[in-house]
Amino acid sequence: MSASPKIDLHTHSRESDGTQSPIELMAAAADAGVTALALTDHDSTAGWAAAAQNLHGVTLIPGIELSTRHRQMSVHILGYLFDPTDAELVAETLRIRSSRANRAQQIVSRLAVDYDLQWDDVLAQTVAGSTIGRPHIADAMIARGIFLDRAQAFESVLHWRSGYVHPHYAPEPLRGIELLVAAGGVPVLAHPATRGRDHVISEDALATLVDAGLFGLEIEHRLNTAEGITRLRELAKKYGLHTFGSSDYHGSGKPNQLGENTTAPDVLHAMLERSTGTEPVWA
Ligand code: AMP
Ligand code: ZN
Ligand code: FE
Ligand code: FE
Repeated sequence: MSASPKIDLHTHSRESDGTQSPIELMAAAADAGVTALALTDHDSTAGWAAAAQNLHGVTLIPGIELSTRHRQMSVHILGYLFDPTDAELVAETLRIRSSRANRAQQIVSRLAVDYDLQWDDVLAQTVAGSTIGRPHIADAMIARGIFLDRAQAFESVLHWRSGYVHPHYAPEPLRGIELLVAAGGVPVLAHPATRGRDHVISEDALATLVDAGLFGLEIEHRLNTAEGITRLRELAKKYGLHTFGSSDYHGSGKPNQLGENTTAPDVLHAMLERSTGTEPVWA
């Protein structure tokens, strides 16, 4: 008897702001009964190789969560099964990661005026070459005893209105989708209806992204609002987009649990048919 599929296509490792190594993540996925897992670190593919060599019986879908921005609003785009050596995509993710590192240093120098915190404290919370973000600053402040958890840090000094934080470089969503498609990948809008946004992405903007090759919407995600989910389902139907459900697991950095939302097997199959950039690593 084969296990029923449990497909979770949005997770993070220590190569970005997850708290587990890619190997630990694959083991945790196996423990949670996940049968296919996408590793989607922010702006990085650095974890693919270690995960691929340590499947723990879980099929690996190589992926990324690309940072983009439209009119001051951060838009995350999940990309799957693209060629990780594509020169333009590599150059763009490098540019984002280096801007993230500069921005984090600037945030820390502002924080250092008011808190006992240094850049080395943040570096101590990261692995070499990983994508740096506010969660690592949070971890450094937790280690210093300033906050109890990441959520507390995000509610105060790491909030975008705190005065300490400014954005990093990010391309437009359209450019992000074009890059992923050109690299043979499959782009999906991550958590498009989170609380605090005025509205779900405008229909005009969505139509433009669909024309560029947008494949799906991440609908079942704990941060999408109930009203937003209803609207996303209508939009998915109207534009022929596939619907995804995922955990956005970050290890102990967030309460999200592996497999808390899942994607249907036929969506994964459609994704395999669309992609030309790289193959899954079958368990
Ligand atoms: P940044 O990439 O520096 O803009 O930071 C955003 C990242 O922080 C996102 O990937 C989220 O996963 C994470 N994040 C945002 N809010 C919280 C929170 N309240 N607790 C833990 N992590 C968070
Ligand atoms: Zn994250
Ligand atoms: Fe995200
Ligand atoms: Fe994420």
